[in-house]
Amino acid sequence: MLNIILLGAPGSGKGTQSDMLIKELELVHISTGEILRTEIQNKTELGKIAATYINRGQLVPDELTVDILAHTLDGCKARRGVIFDGFPRTIPQAEELKRLLNDGGEDISAVMELKVEEEELVRRLLERGKQSGRTDDNEETIRKRLEVYHAQTAPLSCYYIKEGKHHAIDGTGTVDEIFDRIKTICQTL
Ligand code: UDP
Ligand code: MG
Repeated sequence: MLNIILLGAPGSGKGTQSDMLIKELELVHISTGEILRTEIQNKTELGKIAATYINRGQLVPDELTVDILAHTLDGCKARRGVIFDGFPRTIPQAEELKRLLNDGGEDISAVMELKVEEEELVRRLLERGKQSGRTDDNEETIRKRLEVYHAQTAPLSCYYIKEGKHHAIDGTGTVDEIFDRIKTICQTL
């Protein structure tokens, strides 16, 4: 199976590129953020807890997110592979993901990190906020999310460099240009 992690700050294009990749490679898309938003819409207990973190720009605790991920992954066994979009977000989550995949005789194939400058990220997220209706796409929460990203998620770059799985991708330009860069890496896998 092809197990690809898309790493990158909020607004770096993970969701957009995931959508293109799943069509091209017939992979399953797992976005823990989207799963959490569905839980919030459905007003489940999990959704209520998740909302308190998401609306403050903070991460939902590892335990909860890992549970969701493990459950979702269980349903994807027979597929060609998975795109992990927005997960893992912390080192403990990365370690859990590795363990979950290894237990099933699988491994992470590659980690692609979309690199975009901070001001461009803020601009994109504010633009997205006009249509997305996402409660976390406002300037204050965006700044907090970026702060959390630097503190808790950015260390994953080093983690995956050490694992020999990390690929940096210029996340600027047209959507198709960025997708071509990703495809070039996929061809080497
Ligand atoms: N979130 C989280 N853990 C996850 C995925 C999402 O805590 O594994 C929360 C977190 O509060 C984050 C928000 O959900 O800021 C939105 O995540 P998503 O990945 O959808 O947004 P993106 O970073 O792609 O803009
Ligand atoms: Mg996203």
